[in-house]
Order: sequence, then structure tokens, then C-alpha cells
Amino acid sequence: MGLKRIIIIGGGFAGVKCARTLRRRLTQEACEIVLFDRENSMVYYPLLAEVAGATIGPDSVATPLRQLLPHVLCRTEEVRRIDHAGSEVEYEGYDSRLRRMGFDHAVIACGSSVNLNLVPGMSDHAFPLKSVGDAMALRFHVMEQLEKAEVCDDPERRRWYLSFVIVGGGFSGVEVAGELNDLVRASIRFYSNFTTRDVTVTLVHSRDQILPEVSPTLREFARMKMEQAGIHIILNTRVVLATAEGVGLADGRMIGGATIVCTIGTTAAQLVQSLDRPKEKDRVVTDPDMRLRGIPNVWAVGDCAVIVNAYDRHPAPTTGQFAERQGRQVAENIIRVLKGHPTRPFSYKPLGTLCGIGERNAVAEILGLRLSGFPAWWLWRTIYLLKSPSWSRRVKLAFDWTWELLFPRDLGHARTNQTERITRAHYRPGDDIFLEGSPGTHFYVIDRGEVEVLHRDDRGQPNQIVDVLGPGEFFGEMALLDNLPRGVSTRARTEVDALVMGKDVFQEFPVPWCPSVSC
Ligand SMILES: Cc1cc2nc3c(=O)[nH]c(=O)nc-3n(C[C@H](O)[C@H](O)[C@H](O)COP(=O)(O)OP(=O)(O)OC[C@H]3O[C@@H](n4cnc5c(N)ncnc54)[C@H](O)[C@@H]3O)c2cc1C
Repeated sequence: MGLKRIIIIGGGFAGVKCARTLRRRLTQEACEIVLFDRENSMVYYPLLAEVAGATIGPDSVATPLRQLLPHVLCRTEEVRRIDHAGSEVEYEGYDSRLRRMGFDHAVIACGSSVNLNLVPGMSDHAFPLKSVGDAMALRFHVMEQLEKAEVCDDPERRRWYLSFVIVGGGFSGVEVAGELNDLVRASIRFYSNFTTRDVTVTLVHSRDQILPEVSPTLREFARMKMEQAGIHIILNTRVVLATAEGVGLADGRMIGGATIVCTIGTTAAQLVQSLDRPKEKDRVVTDPDMRLRGIPNVWAVGDCAVIVNAYDRHPAPTTGQFAERQGRQVAENIIRVLKGHPTRPFSYKPLGTLCGIGERNAVAEILGLRLSGFPAWWLWRTIYLLKSPSWSRRVKLAFDWTWELLFPRDLGHARTNQTERITRAHYRPGDDIFLEGSPGTHFYVIDRGEVEVLHRDDRGQPNQIVDVLGPGEFFGEMALLDNLPRGVSTRARTEVDALVMGKDVFQEFPVPWCPSVSC
């Protein structure tokens, strides 16, 4: 057969299963397997909500690829392009230069990415949940809100710090709502300035029931249990806007929240978007055997591909269960091609679905059996423990879960000192941007809309409008330059989009700022 090179792009559920199956079935003399992933670990997404909820540590869901895949060449690099005519991939090397590598077969398994731009303001004000970094950032943000609420003497603002909005009632939305609700309510006993009555966790879902993937009785059970646990569920309405204060709904309501988590809005990975092949909703369409149409040696599996399941003739759903099975079957098809045998169409009978809903409850449909409540939660944990990709992670996970049974969840939030960057913020009419007397932390350039500058009168009340700023004007620099509290307040007069930069980024600018307003 001669030494063949098979390149796998993506070390997620599909890519890892494919690499493992190939390595088990083909000798190193027969085949070199190269796996590219821009991260060096495989992320076990179904447990990310538990990381955000401080039930388990980040290490329990991230398995280093090279330890998971012996005798596979793991390259932590991003593939930029697939030249299917020349059978080469183009990737960004360690020195940022583009390099090329030839292949006999290539498997695209690069999953999906988050697209928060579907809703105005979401990318600036909401937390996504698609990486270990996202889960940890959310966890620390929640801890920070608890600490702020503890020292806040304004009851309304305190309740706002303790308001959490989760957008999307699918698996990840339900799981993260349950986890955050459990985390906050179980931690209240360590704080003295607020009670459970001050906490609001709201789940917003556009359809008439949460968890559309499970049967109606289980959906209803999940809704009832979550509401009993204190989660407010809003159905049949869409979130149309996100601001620093909360989310706006299509029916005109505004839900306040210092924490917004967005679990909707996914799009295929960038690499797939750049492929000149037929696509549906950004995902590449494959032949029944998972080959790209008209290309005999390039295959696509997992969330980035539309693959019809021969078992029920429907496109396979984008779940870890299907991605794994496709990874295994694509490896078997490649081996058939290498041996000159005909390939087989993808066919899989799903085993079922599982979803944790908080307070040690879950819903489960396994092999036709429906379970809910504590038994389903026990089954959910057992299955995810067994399906975790390596023994080292299983032991870590078992340790974390045992620890959580014995001790309260960890409320520490180590500062990660993220590098400051320039972001875009969105404000609704009437939203405060900053208040007089508050410390100067950011500088703003108005992109769209109008901002009112307000000053207290001699008696301190009410605010008087002293200026109105429009597109292209900037504000907020004086407090940064002079290291003083804000001399004025600012408020959005209309819908406002603004570029916002933190103190450190602002001070790196070599521009002698000409202040437009002293704030
Ligand atoms: C919060 C959350 C909870 C979930 N819960 C469940 C659940 O309970 N049950 C379930 O079945 N499914 C669940 N899913 C869905 C499941 O995780 C996905 O369906 C599954 O991960 C898809 O596998 P994949 O291999 O296609 O992609 P992924 O697992 O996303 O892997 C893709 C990999 O490709 C890499 N990559 C992307 N582009 C490039 C490039 N250009 N070059 C190099 N590498 C690249 C990425 O870094 C990534 O590691 C959940 C997903 C999320 C986000």
C-alpha cells in the first residue's frame, strides 16, 4: 500500500474518534496520521456548564491531544485552506508564515463556532459557552457579581448584580441555567447582604417549550422542576437586543441582568465557510459516505458537515454522539478505500439523550427508556463519566464530583488579568454609561447615536444636561488622564454604539488628546 498520509483537521469529538480508529487499524508503516487543532486539548463540551457552575475544574474537561492519541502527529496549528485539487492543506506555522502539507486523504472535523452577532449588542454584553476560557470567564464573572452584591448599599442595584439571563432553552441553555442557579443559591449562606429573594435567574426561549430534542413529558418535567428551583422561564419570545443592563425582548419587555449568557447562534468554522463546496446553513454537504461531493479524498464529519443518516434518512443532528460515530465510520471508510473496497453510507441508530437541569435532577431518554429526576441525574453522571475520553480525566471528574458532594462549591475567583482590548458597546436610550463620581476605567468614541453629558446642580439633584455628543466625538478621557473620579455622568440619548477602550489600552496611545468634555 506504501506510506499514506491522512490529515485530520480538528481534534474534537469527531476528529479524535477518527484518529483513534485509524491508528488502531493501520500500522505506522502503512499510514502517517497528522491531526491539526489550534488548541492542544480536546474539550468535552457537555460538561462545560459544570465548569461555569464551579462543580468541576477546567482540567476535567480538557484532555491534551498528544496524550490522548499516541502515535498520531498532533500539530497545534490552524489550517487556513484546503487545496483539494492539489491535495494539500495550508496552515499557519509557529512563525505565522503559511505552509503547505500534502495528503492522501483529509478529514475536515473542525466543528462550529459561535456567532453572537445575530442579536445587536450580544457580542459585547453576553458570555458565550464554547471554550474552557468562556466557562471560566463566566464563572469568575458570577463570583464577582456575588462580591459586588455583598458590598452594594443600593437594594435595586444589588438585585441587578444578582440577576442572570440565559438566552436559549436547548441543552446547553438549560444546563447552564440549572448550574448557575444552583451555584448562586447554594452560596448565599456565605453572604450576609442578600437572600434568595434577591436572586433572579431567567431563561428565555423562542419556542413554546424548552428542550425541543426530548419528549413532551420530559420537557414539561424539566420546566416544572426548574421553576420550582426558582428559575423564571420565558417562552415564545426572542431576545432582540443586549446591553450592559440586560436584554430586550421582541415583545418590548426589558429583562435586567448583570450576567447574560448566550447559548444560541452557531455557525460553521471559518475553514468550512471558505470551502467552495455546496453548503446548507454554512455547513458543508457531503455524500452519504461522508466524502465532499465530487472529491474522492476529502471527507467531512461532525458539526461542520451536513450528513444524511441512512438509518432514518434525516440529516444527522449536531451532537457529540453523532460526531463520534461519524468519526469512527469515516475512518472505516478511508480504510475501505485504501484496501480498494466500496465505502458505506453513514448509518447510526441514536442511543438517546440526557440533560442535567439542576438540583441533582436530569431528564434522560436512553434506548427507549424515559427517566427523570434523581435517577436520570445519576445515569447522566455515570454515562458522562464513562464517555469522558481518557482514564486520567475520568479519575479527575470522579474526584471533582465526590469533592462537590462533601464540600460547598468553591467561591474563589483568581484574577486572570486579561489583556485589555478595544470593544464595541451598545446602549439603549436612557442607559447610563457612567455616573458622576465613579472611577474612570474606560474611554469612549461614539460610532452611532447621541450621548447626553449630565452634571449635578448646586443642590446635587436632578441632573442637568450640559452637552450632547454625536458620532465621531469622544468622552471619558479626563478621568483617565488625571486619575480622578468622573466629573460628570453620561447617558445614551438614543440607541448608541461606541468603541470602548480600557485604561491600559488608552494610555498606550501616543495621541495628545484634546478633550471634548471634561469627564
Ligand atoms: C456548551 C455545550 C454543551 C453541549 N452539550 C452536549 C451534550 O450534552 N450532548 C451532546 O451530544 N452534544 C453536546 N454538545 C454538542 C457537541 O459538543 C458537539 O456536537 C461536538 O463537539 C461536535 O464535535 P466536532 O468534532 O464536530 O467539533 P468540536 O468538538 O467542536 O471540535 C472541533 C475542533 O476543531 C478545531 N478547529 C476548528 N477550526 C480549525 C482549524 N481551522 N484548524 C485547526 N483546528 C480547528 C477546534 O479547535 C476544535 O477543537 C454541546 C456543545 C456545547 C458547546
